[in-house]
Amino acid sequence: MKIIDGKKIAEKLKSEIANEVAAMIDKDERGPHLAAILVGDDAASQTYVASKEKACASVGMTSSIYRHPSTITEKELLKIVDFLNSDDEVDGFIVQLPLPAHIDENKIIQRIDPKKDVDGFHPINIGKMVLGLPAHISATPQGIMMLLEQSKIETSGKHVVVVGRSNIVGTPLSILLSRKAKNANATVTLCHSKTENLKEICKSADILIAAIGVCEFIKADMVKDGAVVIDVGMHRIASHKTQSGFKLKGDVAFNEVAEKCGYITPVPGGVGPMTIVSLLQNTLKAYKKEVR
Ligand code: NAP
Repeated sequence: MKIIDGKKIAEKLKSEIANEVAAMIDKDERGPHLAAILVGDDAASQTYVASKEKACASVGMTSSIYRHPSTITEKELLKIVDFLNSDDEVDGFIVQLPLPAHIDENKIIQRIDPKKDVDGFHPINIGKMVLGLPAHISATPQGIMMLLEQSKIETSGKHVVVVGRSNIVGTPLSILLSRKAKNANATVTLCHSKTENLKEICKSADILIAAIGVCEFIKADMVKDGAVVIDVGMHRIASHKTQSGFKLKGDVAFNEVAEKCGYITPVPGGVGPMTIVSLLQNTLKAYKKEVR
């Protein structure tokens, strides 16, 4: 079994971005700027936004965070989105999800200028992705596509099983993998909570991708010998052994599955760092106006 080192691959891609940004700064250009809107005080959201801010700094990009209490109204939030849409110094921005229940997430996402929608959640970007046109592609699926490509894992003709059909991970990933394109051309089965015979379907996968949101859901008896296993899940489990007071686990029971599969991504250090690097790439694309 081989571990797919997402952290190492992400570092390599980040250094390429850093070189490109440094060349812009040398030419006295402003350089890309990523903004984030953070509503409320959800601990996980704060950590995600902080790591995005840190990643920007690590490649020489500037960033800003617009923090608002969870009492903010939908109308006020829409105004902030409008403000960022019209700010020429902001190339791309994200609205960290989830939002409080009184705010319609779809309404907020659809108000973002698609050119600045570096999370790739706007229907225009999703539509363009489906058609294979230049678009901001959702960071986690894009990161997984790069992870497979960089690890030289063949997808063409392979049976890929994606478990989980969320709009931000499973569904776009299933589309990207099944497209008639380089590093795609897979035969994809998209599973969800109503799928029958899930275990058998998973066992037939050459590449199994777990994006379920249930800690250690995928066990060894669901995996074919030698399969490639990509674990998207991210769960904070309380632990007295770590300084932070928690450790991260995925949707795959790593120890037992690792003994059986050909390749596996760890949690942490697999998909997570690739998600961040994809966001940086999208911000760079937005700066260079490659998505119109
Ligand atoms: P989500 O929106 O909760 O979607 C979960 C999907 O899994 C749904 O499609 C659901 O089916 C399916 N599912 C749930 N229980 C199932 C079961 N018992 N059998 C089969 N399918 C089942 O989750 P998400 O946003 O896609 O995130 C998935 C995981 O990835 C989470 O752990 C999240 O924290 C993690 N994540 C990580 C990153 C990263 O950068 N590493 C990024 C995003 C998300 P239904 O549609 O039928 O409900």
